[in-house]
Amino acid sequence: MCAIATILWLLVGSFFNVVIHRLPRGQSIVFPPSHCVSCGVRLSPKELIPFFSYVWQKGRCRHCGVLISLRYPLVELLTAVLLSLIWYLQGGSPSTYAYLVFASLLIVISFIDIDHMLIPDQLLLAGVGVWLVLQLLSPFIAWSDALAGSALAFALMLAIFVLARGGMGFGDVKLVGLIGLYLGLSLTLLSLFLAFVLGAAVGLTLILLRLKKGKSALPFGPFLALGAYLAMVWGGDIIRWYLQISGF
Ligand SMILES: [Zn+2]
Repeated sequence: MCAIATILWLLVGSFFNVVIHRLPRGQSIVFPPSHCVSCGVRLSPKELIPFFSYVWQKGRCRHCGVLISLRYPLVELLTAVLLSLIWYLQGGSPSTYAYLVFASLLIVISFIDIDHMLIPDQLLLAGVGVWLVLQLLSPFIAWSDALAGSALAFALMLAIFVLARGGMGFGDVKLVGLIGLYLGLSLTLLSLFLAFVLGAAVGLTLILLRLKKGKSALPFGPFLALGAYLAMVWGGDIIRWYLQISGF
């Protein structure tokens, strides 16, 4: 049972790889079926088994021998870990499905942002659409909290965007608006705080290691996504811990 669940989560990750690769290039997500990006040969059912096929084939296409990017199995593994963690920690709560969908979007958005320095509007709009449908079917967050969180965090991020003058993209501002809808005000502010701390830490480390020049831009979307994920899964604990050590 556990093995089947693992394969299913990995398959979801395998689908995300397709979306990450094709969506920014304007290609269909459904056609053509999965193929080697080098020689174009269609993958056999055995080669479609996520993660493990990469291990069996030692990271190479069986037909043309080209090295397959390590990114593919990594995205599959990351997806399986991040989504199953939500399932196990939050399973049964009304927000489980919303969080699974939202975390999925965050994974896809992060890798597209890393590759292309942009966050596609289609994904943000899909996020709003799914949020609305879930809220109408079985509300998982108070409407007022979601709308206030979205509007306030969007306004705050817009102010930072204007002040930073090019330090981040407008896609980041819109993404924060979406985070507000799913997480509400306090968890969204926590995600923003975590994103800025993580972004500063990684940026500084890269500069110190001389891996990045002072001015070259780092995509901010992945940090916002990571902040939102941490707030989604452990936000309540982080806030309780903070209130405890600050003596409230
Ligand atoms: Zn090939």
